[in-house]
Amino acid sequence: MEKNCYNTCMLKPVSPKVDFPALERELLKKWYDQGIVQKYLHRNDSSKKKFSFLDGPITANNPMGVHHAWGRTYKDLWQRFYTMQGYKERFQNGFDCQGLWVEVEVEKELGVKNKKDIENLVAGDKKASIAKFVELCKQRVHKFSAIQTEQTKRLGNFMDWEHSYYTMSDENNYMIWHFLKVCYEKGWIYKGRDSVPWCPRCETAISQHEMLTEDYKELTHETVFVKLPLVSSNFENTSLLIWTTTPWTVPANVAVGVNTKFTYGIWENEQTKERIIFIDKDKNNQTPKRHHKGKELDVHEYLFHTVESTWKKIKDIPGKELVGLPYTAPFDHLPLVQKAKAEHPKTFHTVVDGSEIVMAEEGTGLLHVAPGAGKEDFDLGKKEHLSIISPIKDDASYVEGMDEYSGKNAKKHPELIIDYLKSHENGKFLLKTLQYTHRYPACWRCKTELVWRVTDEWYISLREQMMEVAKKIDWHPGFGLDRELDWLENMHDWLISKKNRYWGLALPIYECKKCGDFQVIGSKEELQKKAVAGWEEFAGHTPHKPFIDEVKIPCAKCGEIVSRVDDVGNVWLDAGIVPFSTLVDPKTGKVSYTSDKTYWKEWFPIDFITESFPGQFKNWFYSLIAMSTVLEQTNPFKTILGFATMVDENGEPFHKSKGNAIEFIEGADKAGADVIRWFCVRSNPEHNIDFGYHTADQVRRQFHLMLWNIYNFFLLNASIDNWKPDSPTDKAIPKRSARITNKEIAAPVTQLARKDVKEVNVLDTWVLSRLNETIKTVTENLKKYKADVACQAIESFVSDLSLWYVRRSRDRVGVEVENGPDKEAFYQTMYEVLVTLSKLLAPFMPFIADEIYTNLTDEESVHLVDWALVNEKIKNKNEKLIKEMEFVRKITELGNAERKRLQIKVRQPLAKFQISNIQFQISNDLEQLIKNELNVKEVVFKKGKEELRVEFDTNITEELRSEGEVRDLIRKIQEERKKLGTRLDEKVHVVLEAWPEQFTEEIKRKALIQSLEKGTKFTVTRL
Ligand SMILES: [Zn+2]
Ligand SMILES: [Zn+2]
Repeated sequence: MEKNCYNTCMLKPVSPKVDFPALERELLKKWYDQGIVQKYLHRNDSSKKKFSFLDGPITANNPMGVHHAWGRTYKDLWQRFYTMQGYKERFQNGFDCQGLWVEVEVEKELGVKNKKDIENLVAGDKKASIAKFVELCKQRVHKFSAIQTEQTKRLGNFMDWEHSYYTMSDENNYMIWHFLKVCYEKGWIYKGRDSVPWCPRCETAISQHEMLTEDYKELTHETVFVKLPLVSSNFENTSLLIWTTTPWTVPANVAVGVNTKFTYGIWENEQTKERIIFIDKDKNNQTPKRHHKGKELDVHEYLFHTVESTWKKIKDIPGKELVGLPYTAPFDHLPLVQKAKAEHPKTFHTVVDGSEIVMAEEGTGLLHVAPGAGKEDFDLGKKEHLSIISPIKDDASYVEGMDEYSGKNAKKHPELIIDYLKSHENGKFLLKTLQYTHRYPACWRCKTELVWRVTDEWYISLREQMMEVAKKIDWHPGFGLDRELDWLENMHDWLISKKNRYWGLALPIYECKKCGDFQVIGSKEELQKKAVAGWEEFAGHTPHKPFIDEVKIPCAKCGEIVSRVDDVGNVWLDAGIVPFSTLVDPKTGKVSYTSDKTYWKEWFPIDFITESFPGQFKNWFYSLIAMSTVLEQTNPFKTILGFATMVDENGEPFHKSKGNAIEFIEGADKAGADVIRWFCVRSNPEHNIDFGYHTADQVRRQFHLMLWNIYNFFLLNASIDNWKPDSPTDKAIPKRSARITNKEIAAPVTQLARKDVKEVNVLDTWVLSRLNETIKTVTENLKKYKADVACQAIESFVSDLSLWYVRRSRDRVGVEVENGPDKEAFYQTMYEVLVTLSKLLAPFMPFIADEIYTNLTDEESVHLVDWALVNEKIKNKNEKLIKEMEFVRKITELGNAERKRLQIKVRQPLAKFQISNIQFQISNDLEQLIKNELNVKEVVFKKGKEELRVEFDTNITEELRSEGEVRDLIRKIQEERKKLGTRLDEKVHVVLEAWPEQFTEEIKRKALIQSLEKGTKFTVTRL
């Protein structure tokens, strides 16, 4: 029910000591209890204009931290901005559900350590165990998606919470099947054997896409310099010197790489006559340098400075002469090594040409080649037909065939190898060990150090024009495109499989063990059609392990009954498919993309997405682009706004483990959601922002409190003066349910912008012009996704409002000022300004904006009204006034500074103020402002072209002195009134020792004095 109380309701005064979080909690209750959120979501249902926004799914795995507020505020901001302009939207919130991150947390909760434990959750029943584990993962997602929903509501976001999407849904999983099937039909899916980064704790491969720079850690490892004796009559008693930071890989050595452009030195031990070979000159014939403890050493000084014996170079040898030489190694006795030797006896333990990868900058210039334990090694191995020794299992324990090492963990116990090298034959194979600090990658999820392993994984080899598609997107900030293109240019094929995991997309790949052929299934229906067993066991379950794996189909080639591969899918498939899977046609209830596409076409491509930049170029942005390019050969979204990271006040990223994390509700209840929102979006998104209660409070004091004080000043005076807004026929205040029409757009910002008001007070005309200018700047910049520029415009307007408009209007209102057109004009102007400003603020600060708007208008909510519009007519006319006012403020600043220098307080009126070298005429209105601000009787202007100069006439006449005295007295009385806590309209009794009698009436009027008496002691008393 619309409650219209114009002319009848008083404006409600507010507390100057506002508690924003308490206000926010009250408003939240109101918004949900009174159905305002629902009205907002559906206010544009019948609109033809659409704004298609896609929420990047948040991982529903933990409560949100305060740092999540940045992106969530942007998301809400632009949805609100377009809603207020009449655009229809979907308001769909998204949750990312599947994958390792959830598994790791559930493992922690259960206290399980590895795969074996998971598969034994239900003792002795692997299938039931996996079913239980998967169920627990689902439950965790439900629990935290509910928590995150409440947290996001607290931030003030309005979304269609009942229709959020979940990437674990059947729709999402089957849509990925569809995508994979398309790739399969184009021949892009293949099984590849490669050396991949591997997490020994998660027992799964980490794709190149998942290896982010932030997951590299500065670590110190004990590294080894290993001697490999050459087997050649020309090189008696001579060894190749190799170096490795991963001693556990030494048993996997099959070759030594040499750079044929380098010159190597043969060095002899003066005591034992033993010789070793390592780099002497790089390809530019320079001796490579090494940094050590702040010193720059030649490579041989560096190598020998911690070695007791003396070594002397006896000879140089070109790298190419080393190629082909055979050598022996410390683990030749192991059966696994013997087996590898038998596979490729010709190349085994020989020097090979590794010029492309052997660098002079690190190590000895001779590369330890272990194709089973390193990517570059693996590639070189393929080229040089080297054997592969794969020394470790999924959990990084040594495999069978390694004698006493088998079963022991290689990564956890590098000392197994180091101790052997130190002791075997008196350390014959070891020159020395060295503590070495370097950047080493860790698992993005569990932070365990990675290893490299050779495994069979599934890949997509995308050959579509992803770079062309990326270029169609409008990237904010612009460097985003370069970053994405750089990634697209350098990435390898997309590794989409995860071995040994449970909670994820069931990769729909069915590989025949008999003939090696494989099929990819593109839908649930296709699977059912092909199923020859297990459908009943699966039916009624989500397409997850273990039930999906009951279904068997025949091999298309040989008819053998085949199972799904055991792997689950890469999580970025889950998030990349959402532009296709989340658009469910409300008319049919079906996923539009795989049914008739009508609804999908209305919303695709997405207009806008916004996410934090770090990490996403390789992940979400990539998967969105890749999947859309495959399915539709076009960009999935038109505009992206990326932003940096919110860090704490010390510049450190928020982390639970660091103890600096701030849970979201706690942050909002302490700092205020509106303060957090403004804090985030006022910043340049390219740079990290440092959030803390201290920095947030600065913003609150500088902006939110300034605004609140203006609002409070208006309400306080309006209620004392019993002022009420005009009738609502005023077009400035659109009725809440009214849809904006073109006719109404033509309505001025305010009726006060009309001529009659300009005659009343130039301040009103100016502030309305500034308001109009602000609407324009904010609107234009939000359209360009530049929230920070929009915020600056609002901050500057609020500052002008406070420091100039209100400051210069203080003596226009209150009980001591008689009612009249000027007072009325002030109230109407202020009212107009605050109502309009609340609309501009609504997308940024939904709470305070709604408080101001509803209190002033008595309407339901600012979130149900239209965006403020620029009045083009007054815009042009008043640009001149805005410039002039800037000039006036500059002059008064100079004047105030000059008074300070002269040490004459502002309350003392002066006769004359002269401005020299002024370049244009100033109107009488503006001249009056200067007089009032500087408290002078006359302003004299002198034209000229030199620097602007100001000067006071400092001669204080008796008359002026009395006037100044009166001002002092009034101020003194007012201070006393404040101490007594009198109301603004409360009259008092005053005793003064003396006062200039000719000003009696003025003193009484301005200080609201009922009776003024002469006495020996100054007193103010309440009546
Ligand atoms: Zn891990
Ligand atoms: Zn087959």
